[in-house]
Amino acid sequence: MMKTQPNKSIDKKLTAAQISPPLFRQLLIVAILGFSAIWAIDAYSGIIAVFDAFSYPICITAFILIYLISFSRANQQSLHYLAYLVVAGYLISCSIWHHLPGNGQFSNSAQWLGLNYVIVYLFLDVKKAAPATAIVFVATITGHYFALIQNHTTGEALVVTLNMAIAHAIYIFLLWTVIKLRVTTDQVIARADMLEDFAYIDVLTRALNRRGIEKVFNELNLDSAEQKKNYAILIIDIDHFKQVNDLNGHLIGDKVLTSIAGKIRRSIHPNDILCRWGGEEFVVLTLNRTPQQVMTLAENLRLAVSQLVIDDIANITVSIGVGHSHEASSKEAVFKIADDHLYDAKQSGRNTIRASQA
Ligand code: GH3
Ligand code: MG
Ligand code: MG
Repeated sequence: MMKTQPNKSIDKKLTAAQISPPLFRQLLIVAILGFSAIWAIDAYSGIIAVFDAFSYPICITAFILIYLISFSRANQQSLHYLAYLVVAGYLISCSIWHHLPGNGQFSNSAQWLGLNYVIVYLFLDVKKAAPATAIVFVATITGHYFALIQNHTTGEALVVTLNMAIAHAIYIFLLWTVIKLRVTTDQVIARADMLEDFAYIDVLTRALNRRGIEKVFNELNLDSAEQKKNYAILIIDIDHFKQVNDLNGHLIGDKVLTSIAGKIRRSIHPNDILCRWGGEEFVVLTLNRTPQQVMTLAENLRLAVSQLVIDDIANITVSIGVGHSHEASSKEAVFKIADDHLYDAKQSGRNTIRASQA
């Protein structure tokens, strides 16, 4: 259903990590299964390196622990870092170890090094990805260089690591292009949300505007023939509001409108819908209340407003007309009933509530 509260700031959306706890856990399961499968293949084929024989179980245990901790209140971002540290630490140190003299001809890890940059993009938010990428890049290149010069000439070591540096730089460049696209997508979504706010939310009171409540009416499918909903519509009109403006000016009038909207919002149930219907008129749509409960709600609202004191202005009152879903077959007709009752309330001296007799 449409949200009835304004959006959070756009900035927050851009910097927040994209990974939800369930998705993080799924990735950890993939890591656990992936490491276990490679461990089994290496062990079965008999070409498992000493380094891997130690590090595979350590990594798998670490992933399982992180998986379990992720259900606690631990900071999820720190867990993302930790998981990343395990993967990147393993891949870099394993590849360096294989390049050291005497550690065998097979290096199954070098081809996985690019993964470190992909995971940065997946696990960390945009602001933290840059330093992490730089650290991984420097550690990978210098580590391999120092491993290679142990039994190669400086020239040979330089050629190999330069090759590696160029390949990794291309990885980083391409992934940053993806990140930029992701940021652009987030901005487009945030802007669309903001435009939705402008379209459906009243700028002054932050209540839904008329277009907003009409959207909610449609989404709730209030007049569905199959499943008739139990709802009530309250039209709330400020009494003699023109005088408030005339005596205190429009700016104070605006403040009164904002305060009344705030008071009503705090007095209704979170599932009730508040709308600024126009000028100094509000509508509350409430679902699944008995007529008695609706009258109690209306009385609470009337009383709450009458107790408001805004910039020394007291005695602010409202008149309320109520319409119930059982009184008519369409929301337009229920609205008309509420509007007629509002007229009666005004006629009978204001600061009162009118509804059909039970
Ligand atoms: P009644 O008790 O019969 O409802 O009298 P009233 O004065 O409240 O009603 P009327 O319809 O005569 O006047 C409504 C006033 O509401 C007139 C208009 O200037 C004011 N108004 C409407 N929208 C706004 C707004 O956004 N800000 C301010 N300050 N005033 C507004
Ligand atoms: Mg009025
Ligand atoms: Mg009015």
